Amino acid sequence: MHKAYIISTGTELLLGSTVDTNSMFLAQKLTELGFKVMGKSIVGDNRDTMQAAFKTGLEMADLVVATGGLGPTRDDLTKEVVCELLGCELQIVEAELEAIKQFFARRKRKMSESNLKQAMFPPEARVLHNRLGTAPGMYLAKNGKIVVLLPGPPREMQDMYLSAVEPLLSQESGLKGAKQHTRIIKVFGPGESQVEDLLGEILDKQQDYGVALLAQEGELTIKLSVDNADGQKAEQRLDELCSRITAALGDNVIGSDEASLPQVVASLLSQKQLSLAAVESCTGGLLSKMITDLPGSSKYFWGSVVSYSNQAKQSLVGVKETTLQEYGAVSRETAAEMALGIKQLSGVDIAVSITGIAGPDGGSEEKPVGLVYIGLAYKDKVNVKEMRFVGDRIGIRTLAAKSALDMVRRSLLTEEGAK
Ligand code: AMP
Ligand code: MG
Repeated sequence: MHKAYIISTGTELLLGSTVDTNSMFLAQKLTELGFKVMGKSIVGDNRDTMQAAFKTGLEMADLVVATGGLGPTRDDLTKEVVCELLGCELQIVEAELEAIKQFFARRKRKMSESNLKQAMFPPEARVLHNRLGTAPGMYLAKNGKIVVLLPGPPREMQDMYLSAVEPLLSQESGLKGAKQHTRIIKVFGPGESQVEDLLGEILDKQQDYGVALLAQEGELTIKLSVDNADGQKAEQRLDELCSRITAALGDNVIGSDEASLPQVVASLLSQKQLSLAAVESCTGGLLSKMITDLPGSSKYFWGSVVSYSNQAKQSLVGVKETTLQEYGAVSRETAAEMALGIKQLSGVDIAVSITGIAGPDGGSEEKPVGLVYIGLAYKDKVNVKEMRFVGDRIGIRTLAAKSALDMVRRSLLTEEGAK
């Protein structure tokens, strides 16, 4: 397998002010392409530490990809360091100089002397044009190694990688066909260990494929990967693995692509031509935000009422005073009346309600922080689920909103959810 090493340069990355997202993107893309990423370094704009990182990279790997430090200022050193290590000379490339001049002319800005540096490259390098900024990148194959330098700003880096570097790497590094094939299965409901139990031997017998589990905000992503030079065989193997996993996990599977839970709910509502409304207490409109983050959601989403106080629960969605007195605002009974109330008010097909204790205060032994009731009203029925979440305020609210969406999703998969 071909080996790669990633270097992120920039003093801001060491000060904690900028998160190194570039290396994350590159690690993912290079792995997909069939490279084994041997390691990563984050170094400041400093000649010595940069040199040490490139030395390590060139010793450990066949390909070194670095980002940052291609700008015009004195602390932009990446090209110089690489040329020193590989014994290359920097020369002006006329076409690049012209492109940089034009970039400034179009913006009616004066090009400074220091921008000349951005048009200097070793003659044996391929210059990678930057469509979104001024700093060109470079691709240099020398002494059996490949060094790729990309600009630091993530948008410029990603555009250059995808448009120029990825095609070059797949053509020239002898990796043709060795591409890693991957699939994603998203799950909501069971936790990581429960999914591990359900998948059993699919996880134990990892041979010609890999399975990675990633849990985030209640959603679990299962990533399957198969290395096979024969693309068709790899895809067949993935199909087979996906069906086994889907069979083992049933309705817990929300989708087999990158689609998020709100997107899945949205597309089910559209497909079935059903409408949704919500009434939220402890989530304060979070479910509504998740849905309305999607463009075009007014086609199926009526809206939501944030009935935070008892008074709002009574006057806006008709929860009875006696219910609140007898069972409390966080109760099965209140959740049911909230769901029925918003359904009547809006006239939608499906209504969902959320009431709970997000904390950090307000919990009791009987009703601890994290206790949430989610109500779902469709047709003339109402269903309430009691959930007990663990986490901080943001975590509990997020889990509550997502669980409510998941309840809608599950009801849409059953007969009762259909019109
Ligand atoms: P540079 O090309 O070194 O001038 O980088 C310009 C800007 O890109 C920096 O100020 C950062 O905001 C951003 N940047 C550089 N490296 C990274 C990285 N590894 N991850 C995310 N952003 C970065
Ligand atoms: Mg920099």
